[in-house]
Amino acid sequence: MDTILVDNAGSSSVKFQVFETGGPSRLKRIIKGQVEGIGTRPRLKAQGADGAVLVDETYGPDVVSDVPGAIREAGAWLRTSQKLTLIAVGHRVVHGGPAYSRPTLIDSKVVEKLERYIPLAPLHQPNNLAPIQAFLKNSPGLPQVACFDTAFHRGHSAVADHYAIPEQLYKEGVRRYGFHGLSYEFVAKRMQELFPETAKSRVIVAHLGSGASMCALADGRSVESTMGFTALDGLPMGTRPGQIDPGVVLYLMSEKGMSAEAIQKFLYNDCGLKGLSGISNDMRVLETGDEPGAKLAIDYFVYRISLYAGMLAAALGGLDAFVFTAGIGENSAGIRARIAKKLGWLGAELDANANAGGKPVISRPQSRLKLFVIPTDEELMIAEHTLAVIAADRLQKTGYRETAKSGAGSHA
Ligand code: AMP
Repeated sequence: MDTILVDNAGSSSVKFQVFETGGPSRLKRIIKGQVEGIGTRPRLKAQGADGAVLVDETYGPDVVSDVPGAIREAGAWLRTSQKLTLIAVGHRVVHGGPAYSRPTLIDSKVVEKLERYIPLAPLHQPNNLAPIQAFLKNSPGLPQVACFDTAFHRGHSAVADHYAIPEQLYKEGVRRYGFHGLSYEFVAKRMQELFPETAKSRVIVAHLGSGASMCALADGRSVESTMGFTALDGLPMGTRPGQIDPGVVLYLMSEKGMSAEAIQKFLYNDCGLKGLSGISNDMRVLETGDEPGAKLAIDYFVYRISLYAGMLAAALGGLDAFVFTAGIGENSAGIRARIAKKLGWLGAELDANANAGGKPVISRPQSRLKLFVIPTDEELMIAEHTLAVIAADRLQKTGYRETAKSGAGSHA
């Protein structure tokens, strides 16, 4: 059975999925797994297509002390227990920099280029590159495809893509990239399948998970994002602050004596819902708590989403639909209701029953702004891209051989 492995290595966890390929456009998920608690209580867990638990194993913190270690353990389990016939591996790579605007077949030159973007995503990019390098070393003939979180936003206009800083820095790559692109691409595609008329209009998609951002879509294409140069900007997240005056960073340096490394750790790990509430980065915990910190953090989260909805609506010149996705967006009816209320001035009228029942359309029929819940699936998007890239590559190689055999010259 031919399969594609998808891996999604984050800053502190590793997710992986295996898809069976049944033809050029048919993909069936057969394994879904993850390693969590890396460095503290590492746990490898995977389930089959029917939900049956295939493995549930814990390790000592020193056995799986970092993300590359987690990748090694997950890889060893897949190799020894699953006997897969891999035809390709698809990787989520957070930063494609200015160079990559579409999924790309990986070779050592691509890796070299992607290594240059490590300073743009210091917590994610090295972990994204670790499994790529391991496969290049151990299975050099296996096709690997990099799918970028930034790629979907690369068509932004110059004003959306720039900061008001000297152009030289833009040329060096200091740009407003935007992230969560694989999630937005998947949701845009689902919109096209489920609600084709709305998909052609002006839509905001809110990816509200541990990481959170919003994207403005015009006719299914990204025109603006709340995230910028790094995945720190925009909405408040589980542990990241979202938009913050750069003066705060200067204050931390000059008055608190914090190093660049300490500030980085602070901004990625200690802020957002966790920092503001002083309780947790998990929305479930905050929603069930009655402490003032929990209330403030949720109020701030909802308020900032409503502010950014105004900004993105301005980028689109109006708004026809608002879509919720990712962990909080898909699962918290309470947060959706609070955001919908704030979007009243844009014409949102929530259908409370549909919202509580987790329906895909949660606005009332007469609502001027349509409200949707569309679950995202970044791994399926990566598997689809991977299959398409290797199919195109095979076609090119077959075409090359046929042309060469016929003596009609060669391709560049
Ligand atoms: P993600 O990064 O998309 O996996 O989303 C993870 C976040 O979703 C977690 O931090 C939780 O706070 C949130 N989440 C998941 N399920 C729920 C739920 N039922 N209610 C509220 N928040 C949830």
